[in-house]
Amino acid sequence: MKQFNRREIIKAMVALGAVAPVYSVLTGCVSNAPKEKAQLNKAGSQPRVVVIGGGFGGASCAKYLKRFDSHIDVTLVEPKETYMTCPGSNWYLAGLTDAKTITHNYKSLSEKHKVNVIHQMVSAIDPAAKTVTLANGDLLGYDRLVVSPGIDFKYEAIEGLSADVIDKIPHAYQAGPQTDILYKQIREMKQGGTFVIAPPGNPFRCPPGPYERVSMVAAYFKANNPTAKILVLDAKDKFSKQGLFKEGWAELYGDMIEWVSATDGGAVKKVDAATKTVTCDYGTIKADVVNIIPPQKAGKLAFAAGLTNETGWCPVNQETFESTIHRGIHVIGDASIAGKMPKSGHSAASQGKMCAAAIVSQFHNWAMPRPKNVNTCYSLISADYGISVAAVYEMHDGTIGGVSGAGGVSPMGADAAFRKMEANYARGWYKSITADLWNS
Ligand SMILES: Cc1cc2nc3c(=O)[nH]c(=O)nc-3n(C[C@H](O)[C@H](O)[C@H](O)COP(=O)(O)OP(=O)(O)OC[C@H]3O[C@@H](n4cnc5c(N)ncnc54)[C@H](O)[C@@H]3O)c2cc1C
Repeated sequence: MKQFNRREIIKAMVALGAVAPVYSVLTGCVSNAPKEKAQLNKAGSQPRVVVIGGGFGGASCAKYLKRFDSHIDVTLVEPKETYMTCPGSNWYLAGLTDAKTITHNYKSLSEKHKVNVIHQMVSAIDPAAKTVTLANGDLLGYDRLVVSPGIDFKYEAIEGLSADVIDKIPHAYQAGPQTDILYKQIREMKQGGTFVIAPPGNPFRCPPGPYERVSMVAAYFKANNPTAKILVLDAKDKFSKQGLFKEGWAELYGDMIEWVSATDGGAVKKVDAATKTVTCDYGTIKADVVNIIPPQKAGKLAFAAGLTNETGWCPVNQETFESTIHRGIHVIGDASIAGKMPKSGHSAASQGKMCAAAIVSQFHNWAMPRPKNVNTCYSLISADYGISVAAVYEMHDGTIGGVSGAGGVSPMGADAAFRKMEANYARGWYKSITADLWNS
């Protein structure tokens, strides 16, 4: 396999959609990021990078480390042999796709890209010794470590909510068994029943995610349980693509959906999982299905490794994604504090590529590539009704900020053909990003 030079890395990132193709901005930009000599493993041969977490951030980083420099010894540690993506999981709830289509494995990463894939949980990181301990007791040494553990939940923020009750009132915000429970409950709900969904306060994974879920559950009910009600009890006063979602809900679902803002008393304070009763200032509601999406923080491992700050997320150098707490460890994806980039799969995959480029550059003592970065979030309101928000990002004084005038949201009042086209783009986005990370 070929080894990329700095210019080729930037070109590859542009071609692969990790960055916007703004060559004039890329050319000649040199960052202030610290330059380091390659830290080689004990045998003095290949540098070793261990990547923890095989989701959007980790899978992307592992693959592109090998693409940018095939000589690096890359090990990906992920407990699950298959990974169900959260993107597409709302479509699955509606019956628009199946579980198999949104579940991927690590064969391509290991067999084609020669990443060493280990299916284990990481139980500890020792930043001083530069080692990672696996649940089976094995120890891995590293020269650079990349951590992409996703999110964890602040169950304690809502009285009555805990990890012990999520089999009765699933959050379904980490795709897999939780999604299957919610899928079943939606189908078993009595005719004319009430579905309560409670989106969390900011920041949280996938800002449009809860509202796409509302839409997808409504699509299912419209066809199978037309007198059902969906009550959205929100911890916020506004949400991503709000005007577009509300326009679509009114057009497609009439008065099936009621949204209650935080100001109107929507923030849930208490839940009784046994009786499916939810309490907030708006009232006490006896529901048939309860989907509370708890407030969030970085994944457990980030806390165990001391990578988080007082916000509950991981501060990083937003150019290299190297932790500002522990040198030599990079944190990407939802767990990281990445300026204006939303916590999304697209952002995590972009960050994986940026981080891979930064690590390869550091190993080779090259100036850091400084590309622009992108995120697009599509949402389906029905099978034929898609909306999107897109943005381009660049560094502003050490922080990732938006490029003014770039990106935007779908227009309000667009016709059916336009919405259908965006719905097709949403499916195309899913196919191409999952093909990139797991299937090609
Ligand atoms: C309903 C829903 C819809 C969404 N839709 C979209 C969308 O349309 N577009 C979009 O861009 N984003 C979407 N997202 C957001 C997207 O899923 C996340 O932003 C993305 O998964 C973040 O990637 P990550 O790598 O940070 O974390 P994850 O994808 O969660 O990956 C983390 C991985 O780390 C592993 N792990 C955790 N701890 C350890 C450990 N100790 N040892 C080893 N491995 C460990 C986990 O098993 C997991 O596989 C959606 C999210 C939800 C919930």
